[in-house]
Amino acid sequence: MDPRGFPTNLPEFQKVFPNDDACAKYLEAMRWPNGFTCPKCGVQGEPYRFPTRATVILRCRKCKRNTALSSGTVMQATHTPLATWFWGAYLVTTQTPGQSALQFQRQLGLSRYETAYMLLQKLRAGMVRPERDCIGTEYPVEIDECLIGGRTRGEGRGVHHKAVVVGAVEVRLRKDAEHRAAKHQQDHSGGIPLKKLVYAGRLRLRVVATRGAADLTTFVTENVAKGSTVRTDAWHSYDTLSSLGYVHDRLTLAGDPDKAEAHLPMIHLVFSNLKTWILGTHHGAIAQHHLQTYLNEYVFRFNRRFYPMTAFNSVLGLAAHATSPTYESLYSGEWKHHA
Ligand SMILES: [Zn+2]
Repeated sequence: MDPRGFPTNLPEFQKVFPNDDACAKYLEAMRWPNGFTCPKCGVQGEPYRFPTRATVILRCRKCKRNTALSSGTVMQATHTPLATWFWGAYLVTTQTPGQSALQFQRQLGLSRYETAYMLLQKLRAGMVRPERDCIGTEYPVEIDECLIGGRTRGEGRGVHHKAVVVGAVEVRLRKDAEHRAAKHQQDHSGGIPLKKLVYAGRLRLRVVATRGAADLTTFVTENVAKGSTVRTDAWHSYDTLSSLGYVHDRLTLAGDPDKAEAHLPMIHLVFSNLKTWILGTHHGAIAQHHLQTYLNEYVFRFNRRFYPMTAFNSVLGLAAHATSPTYESLYSGEWKHHA
């Protein structure tokens, strides 16, 4: 069981959301944490409830206006039962990343491929919007580029189908960093490698046309907060970062892979995992014009890997209303909120 109260495996998930009724209760509590409020007349109070096949209609006792429980969410105006949506949202946020509609259809036990495809597309739409806020500020940020996908097919020198991806990741100090460093001192001589004391915070990835200064610095200024410490290698495209308002921690010696590894351990780890993911789920073959969509999905999962409930609510289109229930309420099915 996850300490934040979200199911960590399928049997637990089924216990919490056994049927459409449990999903409807959760949805109502998420949308109206202080009780149903009529969107038309603004009166708050217990509505009449009429379950339909795919949602619940809430009717205001005052003005008699009907409101669909799923309105304004990803489930709006579909005929797929709530429990199927919830199960699907759980799968896309916690299970095998980048699965196909066919796998999805099988796992959800859906008879129609088209339904599985539609569900997957709608749930994914919430994951592929680029994240807008800037990272950094109190955390140093590692920045680097890598080449993704494609294959050189002897078109001649310098011609390839690989895409340039630039990434920025926050480097956060582990809570037990001091203890780890002291322990290491005791057991070994010499200092502990930095990468054993830190973990990756928020991530941003972008496909860029070139490794030139314009593309790379635009990415940095749009994704990293001014004033942050930014770590890069000696690549000249990063030369202007100090003049753009960053504290530039630049690797001075170019060409030494060990030094680069020690200077940029987190972003290298991110790139290595990203390549493994792309190879594993797409056999390395992603059309360049789809790559940014996949990167956004990757970033969505990565940035919420410690917050599965946030990811779950977000793909269902509940983010704006979401207040996470407590462990007790989740498992009792009461969905009582403590804001
Ligand atoms: Zn009303």
